[in-house]
Amino acid sequence: MTDCYGVMGHPIAHSKSPYIHARFAAQTDQDLGYRAIHVEPGNFQSAVREFEAALGRGLNITLPFKQEAWELVSHRSDRAEQAGAVNTISFDDGVRGDNTDGIGLVRDLVDNCAATITGKRVLMIGAGGAARGALGALLGEGPGSMVIANRTFSRARELATLFREHGTLEARPFDALKGLSFDLLINATSASLSGQVPPIPDGVISERGTCYDMMYASQPTAFVRWARKQGAANAVDGLGMLVEQAAESFYIWRSIRPRTQPVLSALRAEISG
Ligand code: NAP
Repeated sequence: MTDCYGVMGHPIAHSKSPYIHARFAAQTDQDLGYRAIHVEPGNFQSAVREFEAALGRGLNITLPFKQEAWELVSHRSDRAEQAGAVNTISFDDGVRGDNTDGIGLVRDLVDNCAATITGKRVLMIGAGGAARGALGALLGEGPGSMVIANRTFSRARELATLFREHGTLEARPFDALKGLSFDLLINATSASLSGQVPPIPDGVISERGTCYDMMYASQPTAFVRWARKQGAANAVDGLGMLVEQAAESFYIWRSIRPRTQPVLSALRAEISG
């Protein structure tokens, strides 16, 4: 029997996950189906129970349900616990929750973008769910120093406190970044969605620095364009993170690691249309 998987979110029609998982399944010869499932806010729990009752094997969870998924699952991985959010559910001896966003970001940076995190000066902008989901994995790579800045400064400070046992993480308001230099600058805000760039002072990217926007689009995002103007050696969007987090979910479900490069290239061509 074909095993059933899916992604739940609101909205969900735009999701690239069915495309990605169909290619992973074909590449690894796995007999599975994967579909996008639209869920109205307020109906998340019942939608998950219904999927489980129909013998579904696993789910990806996207906005706005990642925190609700964290509450719903009966077992959480350390990564999910740390992130305060679940993006991968497995129906396997209970309802197991994991979070693959952080490892997806790190794999994209290190494997696909040839960026180094270990020993480097890292700046993360944003303190929402995506930032929290990524911090554990980033700090796990052992950056030389790490700063977090956010429009609402108190949220950056809260994250710095939450992760204080996992490594050095300092919260700073945007204007206190002046004069500093970073090897890696990660935009974990949703500012690019509205074509905006957070108020990052000029000159904070080191000469060979990498800039990474977690958002992705068919055209370079506002942040990627800003980074290029600032002279970043490397400026990339988050499409690779999407593919890498999906690959880790696939591995959790199927115990097979798909090759991500061909899927990322095909998806890039597809969205650039
Ligand atoms: P969220 O929880 O709503 O947080 C949004 C963050 O963006 C907050 O820190 C917010 O600051 C900041 N922000 C929004 N507009 C801004 C502006 N104009 N200027 C400065 N800061 C602004 O959202 P999220 O879940 O963390 O998602 C953030 C981004 O990551 C989204 O674009 C999402 O698509 C992307 N993402 C990508 C992947 C992937 O696989 N590539 C995975 C997860 C998320 P305040 O705290 O001051 O409001």
